[in-house]
Amino acid sequence: MEKKNIDWGNLGFGYVRTDVRYVSNYTNGAWDEGVLTEDSNIVLNECAGVLQYAQTVFEGLKAYTTEDGHIVTFRPDLNAERMMASAARLEMPVFPKERFLDAVTKTVAANAAYVPPYGSGATLYLRPYMFGVNPVIGVKPANDYQFRLFCTPVGPYFKGGVKPLTIRVSDFDRAAPHGTGHIKAGLNYAMSLHAIVSAHNEGYDENMYLDPGTRTKVEETGGANFLFVTRDNKVVTPKSDSILPSITRRSLLHVAKEYLGLEVEEREVLLSEVSDFAECGLCGTAAVISPVGKIVDHGREICLPSGMTEMGPVTKKLYDTLTGIQMGRIEAPKGWLHVIE
Ligand SMILES: *Cc1c(COP(=O)(O)O)cnc(C)c1O
Repeated sequence: MEKKNIDWGNLGFGYVRTDVRYVSNYTNGAWDEGVLTEDSNIVLNECAGVLQYAQTVFEGLKAYTTEDGHIVTFRPDLNAERMMASAARLEMPVFPKERFLDAVTKTVAANAAYVPPYGSGATLYLRPYMFGVNPVIGVKPANDYQFRLFCTPVGPYFKGGVKPLTIRVSDFDRAAPHGTGHIKAGLNYAMSLHAIVSAHNEGYDENMYLDPGTRTKVEETGGANFLFVTRDNKVVTPKSDSILPSITRRSLLHVAKEYLGLEVEEREVLLSEVSDFAECGLCGTAAVISPVGKIVDHGREICLPSGMTEMGPVTKKLYDTLTGIQMGRIEAPKGWLHVIE
């Protein structure tokens, strides 16, 4: 199959319209069988539930070309399950796991010409999402929904090299105790926009959010979970009910334990102990891990020993091993790679 004429190495992280997307509608209490369509626009009633009360959830995952030329996605079953949990929390019908996997397979296969070649560093980003479509004016869940899945090629995350991030401890919260921090919903992002814009205006790359109940414990950033490495090479990640359970983070913990023989801990992490760590990284589908070099807590600078020019040694090993698994250079645990073709 002939690839599109795209300068893969110079793509950013933006929307590029691809040939087809998958759509399924939920009406009268059931999902229809779903179709691939070339139509990238959605026509909605002015009073659609999603427009009035933000009833929408989403997912993000990637398709890669492996070293031996297959197109694969990484653990899409976990995205399917997480989307089911997100939908249930917002009183939306769940889109069944098998249907989700079928939508991933069909959409990627139909857009195979947009899957960046092995070695380009670029990937095909997939965005499944669901939203309430019928008119809703009194506050209640919609009756009818649409599931869609589109894809867009995205460039290498560390274009021009790795640059450790500088982040600040935010005065805003991203999630309420017992709220929706653990689900992947647009509403968590809408309310984080002000915090991220003000962080950028003040010269920071990201916000570190603390637990909203006591503001003493590390939670996550707007779109990535934290991994810390202790000075004796233990991998530590914060545990909290209001953190979004990152698939990348869960995979990295497995890699740390089973591939690198490191001790791993999922536990509460106090802000006051962050200065004891040797390395810090942000994990998510977009970057796998981005190293953090500096954390600023209201003027107090916490400089990670790994510094501002490269990934720390453990972060680097985690990054190389997981990307090696995703690209088929290192044997994947059973079930991690979903082969499209
Ligand atoms: C999507 C997301 C992540 C990363 O999850 P992955 O499954 O690793 O991509 C982390 N935090 C938040 C708030 C997210 O929305």
